Amino acid sequence: MMLRISNKNKLIASFVALLLIGLLASTTVAYFHVKKRLEVAIQQEIQLKADLVAVKLNHLTQNTIEQVNHFALHLDLSGIELEQHPSFEYFLLRHPNHNGLEYLGYVVDSDGYYGIANWQAPAGYDPRKRPWYIEGKKANTERFGKPYISVDSDLQALLAVTSPITQNSKFVGLATAHIKFDYVLAILRDLDLGLAGKAFLVDQHGNVDLPQIQDVDLTWQAEVKNIIKQGVTSSLSNATNSSTQLFYITDAIEHIASRIVFAVPKAAVSQKIYQDTLTLLIKFLLIFILVMFALYLSNRHLLAPLFNYLELDSVTRLPSKKHFKQQITQDFLPLNKPGRLLIINMENFSRITAAYPATTVNLLQNKIKERIQLQLTEHSLLGNFSESRYIAYYQLSEGDNHALLIALTSALSQLYEVAGGEIYCNFRIGVCDFPEHGNDIETLIDNSFSALASISRQHNNTFAVFTPKINQQFSDVQKIHNAMTKALYAKEFTMVYQPQINSLSGELFAVEALVRWHSKTLNRTVSPAEFIPIAESNGLMVSLGENIIRQVFSQVAQWNEQGLTIAKVSINISPQQLLAHSFYDNLMRWINDVKVSPKQIELEITETSLLQDPTASIAILNKLNQCGFSIAIDDFGTGYSSLEYLNTMPLHKLKIDRSFVIDLDKKTKSAVLVKTIIAMAHNLGLEVLAEGVENQAEASTLQVLGCDNIQGYLYSKPLSASDLVDYIAKREQSNIKQLRQKA
Ligand code: C2E
Ligand code: CA
Ligand code: CA
Repeated sequence: MMLRISNKNKLIASFVALLLIGLLASTTVAYFHVKKRLEVAIQQEIQLKADLVAVKLNHLTQNTIEQVNHFALHLDLSGIELEQHPSFEYFLLRHPNHNGLEYLGYVVDSDGYYGIANWQAPAGYDPRKRPWYIEGKKANTERFGKPYISVDSDLQALLAVTSPITQNSKFVGLATAHIKFDYVLAILRDLDLGLAGKAFLVDQHGNVDLPQIQDVDLTWQAEVKNIIKQGVTSSLSNATNSSTQLFYITDAIEHIASRIVFAVPKAAVSQKIYQDTLTLLIKFLLIFILVMFALYLSNRHLLAPLFNYLELDSVTRLPSKKHFKQQITQDFLPLNKPGRLLIINMENFSRITAAYPATTVNLLQNKIKERIQLQLTEHSLLGNFSESRYIAYYQLSEGDNHALLIALTSALSQLYEVAGGEIYCNFRIGVCDFPEHGNDIETLIDNSFSALASISRQHNNTFAVFTPKINQQFSDVQKIHNAMTKALYAKEFTMVYQPQINSLSGELFAVEALVRWHSKTLNRTVSPAEFIPIAESNGLMVSLGENIIRQVFSQVAQWNEQGLTIAKVSINISPQQLLAHSFYDNLMRWINDVKVSPKQIELEITETSLLQDPTASIAILNKLNQCGFSIAIDDFGTGYSSLEYLNTMPLHKLKIDRSFVIDLDKKTKSAVLVKTIIAMAHNLGLEVLAEGVENQAEASTLQVLGCDNIQGYLYSKPLSASDLVDYIAKREQSNIKQLRQKA
């Protein structure tokens, strides 16, 4: 089977593939682009924050100096005794804990008095012995000292500021203030760095003050130290990184030896980059789809012909099934004019595809298309239903009747000359009419298919028009099929036997086994003429055939045991059974099971079935013949075969069909025909039996014409096995009587 993808689907598939590749490429580019840009942006943002903090701290130190200077000047100018002056007390009290100032105070050089707002100097504490005082006094100008750890252990200052107090050009003491460590830390802590970043102070040796980084992973410390040491040597703020973190270090802040370090986890950065890329892509995709959709909407009328073109079958350039349906629904049915829908089925397509290369098949398909198109009217549409089926619709012209269908059937059945050879194609056409048989395309198609299926297996190059009866028949067939499946298990099939009589001796020499079925499900007796064809076309014949053959074999075995000798029992074999690949083996197995001789069995095969696949038939018949089965040809005269042809097969008996027998005594034409058949059969060494003989007149004529055997109601209807035994017994008695009378 060739797989055909419609061009439209191909286009869509390539478009989607292109889109996916494009997306993948843009994702990769976008990812690296965004990653770089984001890293730069993060660095810039953090640097900005670092700068802000530096400005804030610089402002703080500057402000502190100003306050201390201002205080010193105030003390300078006061010209009064400095110790415990109430107005200074008041001034000091107003200042503590303000704007990051740890405290403001002053020391009197002459007696070491320490006037301070909120700190009670311990007994014996002499500020004049502290390094900041000694250095401050020596410098004799405003000065920033190193942070120190006070004697009072919980007091930590980041920065000590001193300013000399002079009265009448004479040094009298120092004004002093400390910048609060906590205040600076609070600033850092309040800083929102995003991305789970942290900021902290590090001294010039790279030591991090532990309390400020309680919630930061301490394993960094060594790394941080290292980085700070490197960073300190460079005057610029710079970024560097460890295995897990990105670090940013600020410049040294004026007067403060410490630096501020920012740390951002790399994982958080990657996560953000990933999310940003994804958001970007989704936006990109949405915009893309939106733009494409808008483009499609605004250009629909321009794209329609393209899509229509793409809908066409790649071989025949005909609309696909789907597109055909759309077009009929949109363009034809709304006109409400009578029309006709055709399903044109190529019966031997699978054999043709098996026998010819694809290119030849494609050429053939196009030739078929051309022939159909030639026959169609102006207002019509042809489409591809599948590789082996065409679908056509045309508006009915007045008085058309079936002229177009007849012409089309005849045109299609002509030989096709393709690729230097000749190909013969069989067609069947299912037809139904709009609006008579359906108002919508689906119903029309369904009914055309019903019409198609109603054409019997034997008929090719013909058409059938839908009738509501057809659907009823199909549902009846379905019912019978279902009932038959059950009946096989329920053993509802039984056998009857019809005697065959020798015309000359009047002897019963054989019986034909015929199947009977009373269906419990259907609650009626179904004739084999009704259910055998259904079994054949629905795949049940092989199972049913097995059931029949085994019943007959065991019946023959039983008769043999009873001492009732019937020379031959003939069984009807359908073509499906005969050609089933295990038929011969099964038959041998079954007959061996019951120990019946094949010589007692005759197989009846119709001439049409033999001609379905003559080569295979001859092969199997030869095998059967060699084993001792005899072969009868059934329904002779109803097919088209010649006796010469049948001569190549190992046959024993020829059964003339009942249609030749009816009123044989009154029809001279039939008599001539039957005479010829009998003569030819005898020439070929075949016995002849006439079927369906109902009266003595027919029987006598047959006898005159030389017919060997007779079967029919004249002698007996088909009988059950036990009735047959009685029948044979009665016949023997009357034969004896007749013999006695003659004697
Ligand atoms: P067939 O093989 O041609 O069988 C002969 C048919 O003619 C039988 O119909 C029989 O009952 C009928 N018949 C016999 N004598 C007369 C007569 O004098 N006048 C008339 N009008 N009919 C007569 P039946 O049993 O209904 O079978 C019909 C067909 O069904 C058979 O035709 C055969 O093709 C098929 N069939 C029946 N039994 C079997 C079977 O076991 N296996 C297979 N494969 N097919 C079977
Ligand atoms: Ca028969
Ligand atoms: Ca027959």
